[in-house]
Amino acid sequence: MILGSYRIEIPFEELKGYKRILIQLPSGLKIYARKIIDILEEKTKADILVSSDPCFGACDLAVDTALSMDADLLLHFGHLPIPNLKIDFPVKFVDVIMDIDVSSVTYLIVSGVTEKNISIVTTAQHIRYLNEIRKNLEKRGYRVRIDEGDGRIAQPGLVLGCNFSSVSRDAEAVVFVGTGTFHPVGISISIRKPVYSLDPVSMTLTSPNEISAMADRLIKRRFYLITASQGAENFGILVSKKPGQNRMDVALSIRKKLEEKRKKSCIIVTDTIQPDMLRDFGKFDCFISTACPRIALDDHEMFDAPIITPVEFEILIGERKFDDYIFDSIT
Ligand code: SF4
Repeated sequence: MILGSYRIEIPFEELKGYKRILIQLPSGLKIYARKIIDILEEKTKADILVSSDPCFGACDLAVDTALSMDADLLLHFGHLPIPNLKIDFPVKFVDVIMDIDVSSVTYLIVSGVTEKNISIVTTAQHIRYLNEIRKNLEKRGYRVRIDEGDGRIAQPGLVLGCNFSSVSRDAEAVVFVGTGTFHPVGISISIRKPVYSLDPVSMTLTSPNEISAMADRLIKRRFYLITASQGAENFGILVSKKPGQNRMDVALSIRKKLEEKRKKSCIIVTDTIQPDMLRDFGKFDCFISTACPRIALDDHEMFDAPIITPVEFEILIGERKFDDYIFDSIT
């Protein structure tokens, strides 16, 4: 099924026998929800419900909602499963593909990437094209690595905003195929090698110098927030209920360290972390987010106090040097 610029591959055969299905869509697909529901109802004869809650990744499976609505299946669109996330409820994933022009992508890499030993990575929307790109590049003399990553990574070459383990440390440079700057900047900070970012929609290639400059700016911002947290007395430790973001163990360890330093802290558990919701609890001097790293790194300006990651907390309390700054990751 083609909807807008997406090719959506619903496994209809696997949906037989379910009576009530809750579907979960990322925000870009919600506009097509009613069309998807019509088709699913016609093909499955099941009751189809749609979740309106935000959905940013496969870490965020609406199992609680499915249970409370008496659904017998959760159908999650647009993300690949997280292999090491065990869920005790029937969940199926729907591939959502953004087709790309592999010849043009190859041409752009050949004309702009000088290193010949490269690692290529991408997001779920383009993952199925990586092998074809690799074959094309190998014919042109490149050595191309598509690494497997750790237990959070469903397919070789996939990167998540919280996990860059599929980036090969042995390559001279990395080519990220996808949109946005978060992933290439994160990779640049994680492996400190040249990173190119190839946007297959606008067909532009961003150079390692530009990515590195963005990474420097991000690190400066983070340094500012860590510095601004020095002297903080009251900490809010944020824990997400989302199954693949829940790091309560990390939160408890942070709280213990704060107690040893005679600082006050409060563990706040929530589904989606929103600055407004935190205001109800009064003033905090610093938030430490153990949830999706993107909340602290992308959205920090929305919070009333500095919001830092667990890695940055280590720097704050002197357990890690700033020179050893790494991206917060979930494994
Ligand atoms: S934790 Fe954040 S970056 Fe990781 S999969 Fe979830 S939404 Fe994506």
